[in-house]
This record gives sequence, C-alpha cells and structure tokens, in this order.
Amino acid sequence: MPAQFDITELHWLLDVVQSIDVGVVVMDREYQIEVWNSFMENHSGRGADEVAGHTLFEVFPEIERNWFSRKVETAVMLGTRAFTIWEQRPNLVHFKSYQPITGLADEMYQNVTILPLRSTNGVSDHVCLIIYDVTNVAVNKRQLESANTQLQELALRDGLTGLLNRRYWEQCLEREFSRHMRYESPTSLLMFDIDHFKKFNDTYGHQLGDEVIREVSRITRLLARETDYAGRYGGEEFAVLLPDTAINGAFQFAERLRTAIEALQIDHAGQVLQVTVSLGVASMKDNMPNHTLLIEAADKALYQSKENGRNCTTVAEND
Ligand code: GH3
Ligand code: MG
Ligand code: MG
Repeated sequence: MPAQFDITELHWLLDVVQSIDVGVVVMDREYQIEVWNSFMENHSGRGADEVAGHTLFEVFPEIERNWFSRKVETAVMLGTRAFTIWEQRPNLVHFKSYQPITGLADEMYQNVTILPLRSTNGVSDHVCLIIYDVTNVAVNKRQLESANTQLQELALRDGLTGLLNRRYWEQCLEREFSRHMRYESPTSLLMFDIDHFKKFNDTYGHQLGDEVIREVSRITRLLARETDYAGRYGGEEFAVLLPDTAINGAFQFAERLRTAIEALQIDHAGQVLQVTVSLGVASMKDNMPNHTLLIEAADKALYQSKENGRNCTTVAEND
C-alpha cells in the first residue's frame, strides 16, 4: 500500500467498486460474504445487509461446492488468480439476463475471476470474486456458430429435396471407398431413376414433377438407415450408398424402396397419380481401382432395369 494512502482514497475505491458494472464479492476463508457490491445487489435482489455473515454457498445453492472450493483453495494456495469461463461453464451463479432482442439467453453468461487477497502480513485470508456479464459475447458467438452450422449443412444438401448434393455425396463415396479398401467391410450402392418422368412433367407440369421428386426423396430418407448416404445424383436420379451392406441386403433395400414409391399416391385435382422407379445395385469389389467403377456398375444395372420394362431392380453383372 502506498505510504500516502489515506482514508479519502479508500472512499474513492469503495465508490468505484460500487458503481462498476461487474460483480464484486469478498469473502473470508470460510466463504462468509463481507463485501457485496451494487451489481450483486441488483442482479440477486439481495442487499449487502441480507447476505452479510452468510456463506456464498448459502446464498447461491446452485454453485457446485466441491468443484468451486477446489478452485478457490488452489488459487489461495498458489497465491494466483483463477478463472472460470462461460465456454466451459455458462455461469457461476444464476442471474436473469436482460437480453430483450434475442430471446436466446434466459440466464446471464459469466466469466469469473477468483482473486486471493493478501493482508499486510502476506497471508491470503480473503478471496475476491469478480463476476463479468458476458451474455452479449456468448449470445453473439452462439448465433454465429449456429448460422455457420446451417450454412455448412446447406452447402452439402440439395435445395429441393434436402438429400446430399451430388458433389458432397461423391465425397462420401470416395471416403467409404477407401474405408472399404482398408477394412474390407461390404459396401453397396443403389442408383435409381424415375420412370417416364419427361412424360409426367409434360402432362402434369413441372411443379407437380418437383413435388414427386420431393416425395420420392422423403420416402428414400425414411427407409434409409442413419448411416446410409442418400443423395440426389441428377434431376430425377438418386443414389444411396449403403455401408456395411452386402449385395443381398442392398437388393432387399432396393425392392422395399421400389414398392414404397410405387404405392405413393399423388393427388392432382382429384385425380390420383402414381410413379415408379427403376433401380440398379452393385457392391464394391476389392479389385475396383476407384469409386467411379462402382457408380458405373450400378448405373449399368439401372439401365438394364429400364430395358427390362422399368419398375424393377437389377443386380450388377459381377455381383
Ligand atoms: P426413363 O424412364 O427412361 O427414365 O424416362 P424419362 O422420361 O424419365 O427419361 P429421363 O430420365 O432421361 O428424363 C429426365 C427428365 O426428368 C427430364 C426432365 O424433364 C425431368 N427432370 C429432371 N430434373 C427435374 C427436376 O428437378 N424437376 C422436374 N420437375 N423435372 C425434372
Ligand atoms: Mg427417368
Ligand atoms: Mg434420368
């Protein structure tokens, strides 16, 4: 303490502590509260008189005692500051947040500094908590993160159907291809195409055609497993990569999909319309030099289904 320190300066300091927009709490080594500034009064709704003599844990039962006291004891022992940050723990004490715009945060996000206080004899017999309201920062960051996630999702998905777009789907195929080469887990590919779709568009209009594509995609997603990769390969062409699935399983999946799409009823001005698809399945082979050969094999089988009269599934030649 400087030699010229006098009681006036102490008053100034107390004024500063009272009026700053952070929470200041000083407690003794038994966690009994001794200083409680106006930020704490305003946000907790309890005056300094009310909390004096009570421990921090009595006033804030939400504080996890073991965790927090360990942190404080370590800080005191080392004589250094310790911190808690909102990214790890959104807050220390439950204060309401007043964020009228976002509605994202009901509670105040907080960073907290734990500051051991030494008395003149050098012993840390008090601890000061400084509580910062970081709700603004936290809400902004959270919003940015969720916007980024949405953007990333959008970049991977097809706008009309929500299925994986072709580019991303092919990346997934490449990845699964190398996984297959390493672990030799069976992997199959299903490709399918809506039958006589040009005619459908010409007769009922492009808009209803879009609706059909959406419905076919919905059924595909519904029947596929969480781990499958369902993609929109072209306008009305779809591809589903089936990891850990041998050709028999792929054929069964294809037939289930085919019959579900066949059963689909599309309402058009009181008239019930139906569509069918032609499908081809192929499985990865150890001697395939790259993933495009798998696409070719499934595509060739699909073409064969068209040749065979449509609304059917063909297994690739080498399977
Ligand atoms: P096939 O049974 O041989 O498949 O006959 P098809 O008429 O379906 O022939 P093809 O697969 O070559 O036709 C594709 C048609 O699908 C052309 C186009 O009119 C239509 N199509 C492609 N993309 C879209 C789309 O995004 N929306 C709509 N409504 N139609 C599309
Ligand atoms: Mg077609
Ligand atoms: Mg086509």
